[in-house]
Amino acid sequence: MNWSAVRDEAVGYLSDLIRINTTNPPGNEISACQYLAQVLAREDIAATILEAAPGRGNLVARLRGSGRGAPLLLMAHLDVVPVEPARWKYDPFGGEIHDGFLYGRGALDTKDLVAMELAVFLWLKRNQVPLARDVIFMANADEEAGGRFGAAWMALEHADLIRAEYAINEGGGFGSTILGKRIYTIQTGEKGAARFTLRAFGRPGHASIPQRDNAVLNLARALDTLGRAEFPMHVSVTARNYLEGLANALGGAAAASLRQLAEGKNGKRALAHLPLDEGMRGLLYAMLHNTATPTKLNAGSKINVIPSVAEAQVDARLTPGQTAETFLHELRAVLGEEYEIEFHQPTTRGIEADPQSPLYDTMVRVLKQHDPAAIVLPDLVVGATDARHITKLGVKVYGFCPMFDEAGEMERVHGDDERIRLENVGFGARILYQVVSEFAQTA
Ligand SMILES: [Zn+2]
Repeated sequence: MNWSAVRDEAVGYLSDLIRINTTNPPGNEISACQYLAQVLAREDIAATILEAAPGRGNLVARLRGSGRGAPLLLMAHLDVVPVEPARWKYDPFGGEIHDGFLYGRGALDTKDLVAMELAVFLWLKRNQVPLARDVIFMANADEEAGGRFGAAWMALEHADLIRAEYAINEGGGFGSTILGKRIYTIQTGEKGAARFTLRAFGRPGHASIPQRDNAVLNLARALDTLGRAEFPMHVSVTARNYLEGLANALGGAAAASLRQLAEGKNGKRALAHLPLDEGMRGLLYAMLHNTATPTKLNAGSKINVIPSVAEAQVDARLTPGQTAETFLHELRAVLGEEYEIEFHQPTTRGIEADPQSPLYDTMVRVLKQHDPAAIVLPDLVVGATDARHITKLGVKVYGFCPMFDEAGEMERVHGDDERIRLENVGFGARILYQVVSEFAQTA
């Protein structure tokens, strides 16, 4: 295959998709679905567009295999988060190329994966690859707002269109240099979410006479306590595999601390002793603990009145195996009983897929063919993706959007000047094609 032509083709799709503004809200993913349907129709592939609500489009297409194996689902979301245009160097919806990078909202999250999967899908058809399993392509709405009009709705209302044994999704496939080693991760798990409102109470009164029992001050004390809290460590299977793999790869001083963490020992000290940067240590902390991050505050109605209640919204994330109930015990142990903790429904549990699978093995093998120095590790993603909706159908979901992050490109996800290196679009499309075509020919 002419891989530079494949790269240019995927870059073209990505640029076109970026020019279709799918900022969520309102989403308007239907326009992107119509674009994809046209591209597919040019090659005689029928696509179905399903609208969860006006404008909230989801697209599904299928290449039939012999049926010897169960389907493989290629999925990615079409919606993007809002931009602050004044802070961007180039038009966030221009799809412009400068100095080897394609700029635009969604360039990394996740119109890149949509474009790569689309190119892979089309090339499977063009090459008449003899598939042993169906390959399904889904480009869905609303991931950035929780998936109610996207993957969650598809799993609930159109499960028959997307049911599969395996899925390839966002959340992994990235390589970066850690202490001189080229480390790639494949997402095999992700944390759950249990957002809550934290309420503090106090005696109302006139602000001209200060009092210690003030709801605002009580809330401030609770938040300070929360900020300093040390919650217990929870080492999931995925996290243990990741930490052991990283220890083996890095060796030296880092290995001892990483192995302690893998065994659930000495959390704070082991983390502090890791010769890694602050960002990486923060990530490891989040991988190993339930976390609670206050993000919104609300109290009072008038400046001269002491209110009786003050509240904070807290974004909390749970390691696999944890629930809102188990986390409530941890919160009570830190905060005591005097505060009200009200979880927002629904809360979600963390998920894990088995890293011992033929698809996972294919991903590792292909990555190493293209990057012989690659060290590939299973990863517990500390945020949430659409994987949690699709796993409800019994699908094993892996996050795999292959690229190598040379210079902190991934830090621009949801930020300003989001961009992707053109070489990475080519790298990702090529590896994905090889993984999908090899895997889908086996049952
Ligand atoms: Zn995102």
